[in-house]
Amino acid sequence: MFVFFNGEFIEEEDCKISPYDRGFLFADGVYEVVKYTGKRFFEFDSHLMRLKTGLEFLKINFPGVNKLSEIGYELIKRNNLTGMQSILYIQITRGESNPREHLFPGKDTLPTILVNVKGFSNKQIEKEIGISAILTEDFRWSKCCIKTVSLLPNVLALQKARDNNASEAIFVRDGYITEGTHTNFFAVKDGCLLTPPLSDFILPGITRKIIIKLCREINFPVFEENISPFYLHTLDEFMIVSTKADVTPVVRIDDINNITQVRRIVKTCPGAFTLKIQRVLDDYINQ
Ligand code: PLP
Repeated sequence: MFVFFNGEFIEEEDCKISPYDRGFLFADGVYEVVKYTGKRFFEFDSHLMRLKTGLEFLKINFPGVNKLSEIGYELIKRNNLTGMQSILYIQITRGESNPREHLFPGKDTLPTILVNVKGFSNKQIEKEIGISAILTEDFRWSKCCIKTVSLLPNVLALQKARDNNASEAIFVRDGYITEGTHTNFFAVKDGCLLTPPLSDFILPGITRKIIIKLCREINFPVFEENISPFYLHTLDEFMIVSTKADVTPVVRIDDINNITQVRRIVKTCPGAFTLKIQRVLDDYINQ
């Protein structure tokens, strides 16, 4: 497989990252995950805007953001993925600090950039029958709106979900649901779509944004409001959304840490509204 690494298209095996790279030492970097539909990259501009926001927040000077779309299409071509759904991964770190040193390196230090692409199939069964999730405490930092590669709490929470026979962990912070470890969270109540509002504590998901737009276009009411886990059992449907999960129904939520009084919420099958939103999004992506 070809990757783009620090200005060159090279074979993946030839990609050598320094032991002093600050991505390795400090998780000092940002990333993006973009879907290639087989015809085009989906919402590339939105991903690039979010990447720029992250780079600015981290004060990483990377002038090449506007070249990433061209690089993406070149990687699709070189890896013979034209026509095949794929996932583009972009990671930019602050470059090297040798010797290891917390402070930013000198201004002449170049950021490290890696872009790769892999063929990707949706988890169709999960999209059809739904998944189980757990609730877990959100002990991430207070800038979850920035897509940094510092994902240890997300990794630990997702593994905890797996260890409890679930496919996603839904974070709860200060008495409210924030999001999943790698997804945004939506619920349906009385025919209205609910999702936590944008804040420092959730990632402004591209899929979330598109779903809200599409639902409003078809006059499906959407409320961006705090969702308390205490009222989850009174809601009708649940779903997680992301670039890779699209809209995936959640049919069981286990409160394994007794955050609420209700140990398990079960829905016998994915809800009708969830499946409708799933169809609307799939059609929009594949149009
Ligand atoms: N929330 C978190 C924590 C994520 O990591 C992701 C995606 O990786 C999302 C939400 C969904 O974002 P998007 O729809 O842009 O893929």
